[in-house]
Amino acid sequence: MTAAESFDVIGFDADDTLWHSEDSFAKAEATFAEWVSPYAADGVDVKAALTAVERKNLHTFGYGVKAFGLSAVEAAITITEGRVPTSVIAQLVELVRADLTAPVRLLPHVPEVLAAVGRSYRMVLITKGDLIHQTFKVETSGLAHHFEHVEILLEKDPEAYRKVLAGRGIAPARFCMVGNSVRSDILPVMALGGTAVHVPYPLLWELEHVEHDEHFAELASIADLPAWLGL
Ligand SMILES: [Mg+2]
Repeated sequence: MTAAESFDVIGFDADDTLWHSEDSFAKAEATFAEWVSPYAADGVDVKAALTAVERKNLHTFGYGVKAFGLSAVEAAITITEGRVPTSVIAQLVELVRADLTAPVRLLPHVPEVLAAVGRSYRMVLITKGDLIHQTFKVETSGLAHHFEHVEILLEKDPEAYRKVLAGRGIAPARFCMVGNSVRSDILPVMALGGTAVHVPYPLLWELEHVEHDEHFAELASIADLPAWLGL
């Protein structure tokens, strides 16, 4: 049986799989460090402190740019013991607004890969994070028409995937997920008995790092997906 006969539906992650995302967060973190460091005590690692605040807030604020912004404001105040000027807080809020309204930047080969895969498979988009921002990105990406369903989850864990697949009548064994995050796109789908293909992005958010000893397919580029599927 070829790969092409093994699946009914291909699922795609969005951020850092179809379009750039983490590079914006990396830039925002660097900007945060530049703006906040002058008010922090000597020797404080402001980036590490920001990540610690994000980790603490993850379950309350969720994922995405707005959650990052709230954590950045909290971290700026706590790291500087309140010395950070309100002008810097205002700049941080503007940084968040700019990221939320920035045009989607597609990764190379994505439109033609989706067109090629879509000729042979049903396709769904499964992403997580902020509903407004993710919806904006999907709707302005020019890619929405490829997908029979778009799902924006709070968390990408096995139970969330199980509900999405059950709701669409998709058997996990006939489902293949494509994404950049082992923690969010690969392991939870494999836990359900599905297949997953890892397409790494050059940057990975610290809170997406995961230890594992699973084996799964890894492609250097999404451009390799049609051939991997036997198309
Ligand atoms: Mg992703």
